[in-house]
Amino acid sequence: MNYVFPPPAPAAVPVRGGGLFPVHRIYCVGRNYAEHAQEMGFSGREPPFFFMKPADAIVPVAEGETVAIDYPPLTANFHHEIELVVALGTGGRDIPAAKAAEHIWGYGTGLDMTRRDLQGEMKKQGRPWSIGKGFDQSAPVSALVPKARTGELLEGAITLAVNGQQRQKGDLRELIWSVNETIEQLSRAWLLQPGDLIFTGTPAGVGAVVRGDVMEGAIAGLPTLRVAVR
Ligand code: MN
Repeated sequence: MNYVFPPPAPAAVPVRGGGLFPVHRIYCVGRNYAEHAQEMGFSGREPPFFFMKPADAIVPVAEGETVAIDYPPLTANFHHEIELVVALGTGGRDIPAAKAAEHIWGYGTGLDMTRRDLQGEMKKQGRPWSIGKGFDQSAPVSALVPKARTGELLEGAITLAVNGQQRQKGDLRELIWSVNETIEQLSRAWLLQPGDLIFTGTPAGVGAVVRGDVMEGAIAGLPTLRVAVR
């Protein structure tokens, strides 16, 4: 088979200790911490809902590196959302929550970067969020750490600082829908595959960044994620 042009290399994220994790899809959970749901104007008791980002929106950030992303076009309100990223090593359909952890390969620290003004306009009009969520470079991700080394991550601080000042703070215990419940729900709607990443939602304190800002995201036990905006 001759491709009509050379296909791009698959999206991939570095792994702590070496190697690359090839990315299949990026699923994202909306409003999964109560205080963040409240800051967005909701009660926090809604059933889980999902959106996606294209795999090539990933910006891999190796340990110890600071990677710059471009301030994106069409927005004047470019928001950070720090999130636990779950990487699946095996897929499946209709995975029960009690079996979900067996499918987790590892974890990373991610940013669900958002053009909040565009997302808000689309919400108001009942239109898709893609322009607010699924744009280029909208998914910076740290090196992944195998679950074999971390154990199942059920608790631990999750924070984001901008230029050294803390903006977001939460604990993985505060997830409304646990990682295992999220995998159960996602696997009812899609055939999950090895290489799928799940952005599990952000704690309260989302806000805007501008050119020149440096974001530092941290989750207990995982690589710190440093991303600059240029
Ligand atoms: Mn998010």
